[in-house]
Amino acid sequence: MAVTTTTDIVIAGAGLAGSVAAHELARQGIRVALIDSRAEYPACFKAEKIEADQADLFREFGLMDALQPHVGRVREVLDARGTRVLQVLRLEQYGIAYHDMVNAIRRALPPAVDVRLMRVEGVSLGPDRQQVTLADGAVLEARLFVMACGTGASLSGRLGLKREMIRREHSIAFGFDVAASGAGRFPFDSISYYPDGWQTGIGYLTLFPIGTRMRANLFAYRSLTDDWSRAIVHEPKPALLRLLPRLRSLIGDFEVTSKVESARIDLYRIENQPRAGMIPIGDSYQSVCPTTGTGLSKVLTDVHVLARDCAPAWLSTPGMDVDKTGLWYRHPRKNEVDERSLQKAEYRRRVSIDGSLRWRLHRAKVHLQMSWAGWPESGRATRLTRRSERT
Ligand SMILES: Cc1cc2nc3c(=O)[nH]c(=O)nc-3n(C[C@H](O)[C@H](O)[C@H](O)COP(=O)(O)OP(=O)(O)OC[C@H]3O[C@@H](n4cnc5c(N)ncnc54)[C@H](O)[C@@H]3O)c2cc1C
Repeated sequence: MAVTTTTDIVIAGAGLAGSVAAHELARQGIRVALIDSRAEYPACFKAEKIEADQADLFREFGLMDALQPHVGRVREVLDARGTRVLQVLRLEQYGIAYHDMVNAIRRALPPAVDVRLMRVEGVSLGPDRQQVTLADGAVLEARLFVMACGTGASLSGRLGLKREMIRREHSIAFGFDVAASGAGRFPFDSISYYPDGWQTGIGYLTLFPIGTRMRANLFAYRSLTDDWSRAIVHEPKPALLRLLPRLRSLIGDFEVTSKVESARIDLYRIENQPRAGMIPIGDSYQSVCPTTGTGLSKVLTDVHVLARDCAPAWLSTPGMDVDKTGLWYRHPRKNEVDERSLQKAEYRRRVSIDGSLRWRLHRAKVHLQMSWAGWPESGRATRLTRRSERT
């Protein structure tokens, strides 16, 4: 099939990474084609929070205003355990459904972005030009191919990229809506609630607003097929209270008001094997444990590095060989953010479930530090319960 379109960059995948990259590259005056089979990103359970550093990057990309109509603003997060608030963090954070985030960014794409509703079926890579074949047989030619296909491995497999599996079934995540029982409201913006012991296999539970809903994300280090994981999907409230029995004493009685979504997280990254003509970004490059809250930081840093440091320089001279694309794998800022995400994933796992003396002592120290930092708020637990009983 003959080439139908010639452009600077073809991006496969219009999830968060691909959509933000297309938006930012187009703002830099680079010609971009963005390929995804679906016009609307479907509802699915992925990142549901924007942290302060991520909001800063969205602002720098000129996208925060597009997200505002969909967010729930968090100004204060309570860190709590048992029946006590350990500390109160004052910060900037937002709750948002992942598909609302991606679709808002897609709607904000400049008209110059060539959006194609199709799957990328094949890519022929070379040191100068890349040919990208779509499912309808159309062929696009570009200087650079950017793979932003998320955790799916089929295209990267076809391109011969290998994944280094850091830990299969590293963690599991559950997402559901909750409401305070009766006509009441929860007496906080957001809460991170930690279990009483490492034997529970629970990382933490976080409650935060998305629009008018209170959303719960629960992170655990268990198998998705064990009895408790099955129970929380079918009978969430009793299963939750079985492992977090003092939660209700702190936040008041509540109901689970939606179906429970679940996700299994494998931790991997692409092996350092640069290919001429292409780079992987976002989850196509490295996955993330959601306990760390670093997925969007990774995605947005990838876009920043690509659109500001790499693409303009690479396109300004002929060729796209591994001398150029290899820089992607060695970029210091990208490496630092990716590495921090992996280290945080390992730390969160150990601090949650490692039963060795060293980690038990460390946990005790962390809780003491939190209590010390938060001692002025120490009366808050009783106030929380009284307020939730009143409302
Ligand atoms: C349960 C869960 C909770 C999370 N919570 C958080 C959190 O609280 N904070 C945080 O920062 N991060 C979190 N993350 C991580 C974050 O969601 C991801 O890092 C981020 O969504 C990755 O975006 P992406 O664009 O790389 O992938 P995706 O959003 O998966 O996008 C991939 C796109 O590629 C398209 N595609 C695939 N194959 C092809 C093809 N052949 N041709 C064309 N298109 C194709 C798909 O249709 C899709 O649109 C969480 C992840 C999970 C699973």
